[in-house]
Amino acid sequence: MSDGVWAAPGRVNLIGEHTDYNDGFVMPFALPHTTVATVSRRDDGVLRLHSADVPGDATALRVTELAPGHGPRGWTDYPAGVVWALREAGHAVGGADIHYESTLPTGAGLSSSAALEVVTALALNDLYELGLERSQVARLCQRAENRYVGAPTGIMDQTASACCTEGHALHLDTRDLSQRQIPLDLAGQGLELLVVDTRVQHAHSDGEYGKRRAGCETAAATLGVPALRDIAHDALPEALDRLPDPQIRALARHIVTENHRVERVIAHLEAGDIRATGPVLTEGHASLRDDFRISCPELDLVVDTALAAGALGARMTGGGFGGSAIVLTDVALTPTLTKSIQEAFTSASWKQPRIFSTTPSRGARRLS
Ligand code: ADP
Ligand code: MG
Repeated sequence: MSDGVWAAPGRVNLIGEHTDYNDGFVMPFALPHTTVATVSRRDDGVLRLHSADVPGDATALRVTELAPGHGPRGWTDYPAGVVWALREAGHAVGGADIHYESTLPTGAGLSSSAALEVVTALALNDLYELGLERSQVARLCQRAENRYVGAPTGIMDQTASACCTEGHALHLDTRDLSQRQIPLDLAGQGLELLVVDTRVQHAHSDGEYGKRRAGCETAAATLGVPALRDIAHDALPEALDRLPDPQIRALARHIVTENHRVERVIAHLEAGDIRATGPVLTEGHASLRDDFRISCPELDLVVDTALAAGALGARMTGGGFGGSAIVLTDVALTPTLTKSIQEAFTSASWKQPRIFSTTPSRGARRLS
C-alpha cells in the first residue's frame, strides 16, 4: 500500500524558443503524457528511488547526505536534487519510497526531466504538508536541475509541468514570472497539433546551448540593456546596427523577433483564429535554423515535408540539434502528413520518427 499516486506531464512549447534565458516570453502547453509517481512516506530519512523506465534495482540515499556534486550520477539526480532543493530552502522533508513510471519519451525535448522533478516535488509537498504553491514548486525544481543535476535550463519546463491547465497554452513572462492561460481549442477548429520526435539528439547540444546563452548576454551587454527582452521589436534595426559581430547580431535578431512572434500568436489566439498562428510558427523555425542555428537536417526535413504536404505551420521545439518538431494541421490532413514524413525519413535512410497527436492537457496533480 502506498500513501498516494501523483502525475506530472511533459510539455511542448508552441512558440518562444530560447527566450527564457533572455527574460522573454514562452508559451508551452502540457502533454497528455505523464510521469506517474507512487509514493510512500518513510520516517527513517531514506529516499528509495526506482523507475520502471530504467533497468536496475532501486537506489537508496540518505536525505541528510544529499549534496550537489556528490552521490551516484544518473537519473536519480533529478528526484534527489528535488529533495536537496526542498531541504536547502528550509522545508522539513524526510524520506520516501518512490516508484516512477512514464509515458513520456526521455531526451526527446518534451521535458521528461521536468515531469520527473515536478511529480516528486508535488508528492513531497502533499505528504510532508509543505504548503508550497505551484510556482514555488517550479522554481525549486529548476534549482534542482541547475544546481544538483548541473543542467543550466530556464524556468519554462518546470512551470509548464506544474502550472498548465487543460485546453490552454501558458503564456509565461520569464522576467516577472507572471502567467496567463490562453485558450487553445484545437479540436473545436478542426485542427490537430502533431509532435514529431526525430529520435536523434546530436551530441554537441550542451556546449552549443552554452554558446548561444553567452552570445545573447554579449549582445545585451553591448546594447546596454539587462536582457535582450528589453529591445522592442520596432527598435530592432537600430539595435542590429550597433552589433558588429554578425553571429551575435543574428542571435539578437532571433530573440527579439521570437518575443514578437509570441505576442503575434497570442493576438491570433485571442481573436479566436488558431489557423493564423501557422505561418508564425513556420517563421519561428526559419529564425531558429538561420539566425540561432540550432536546427538539424532531421528537424528541417520534418518541417519542410509537413509544409509541402499542406501543414498550416511547423517548427522545431525545445533546445534544438534533435528532439522534436510540432506541426499544426487540419485534422483531415493528418494521415497524409504522417505518411509523407515517414516516407521522407525512409528515403533519407534515417530511423523512423515517433509521430503523435496532442492536445493541451492538465498540469501536475494527485491521482489518488
Ligand atoms: P527531456 O527533459 O527533454 O526528456 P533531458 O535530458 O532533460 O531530456 O532529461 C532526460 C533524463 O531525465 C533521462 O536521461 C533520465 O535521466 C531522466 N528521466 C526522465 N524521465 C525518467 C523516468 N521516467 N525514469 C527515470 N529517469 C527519467
Ligand atoms: Mg529536460
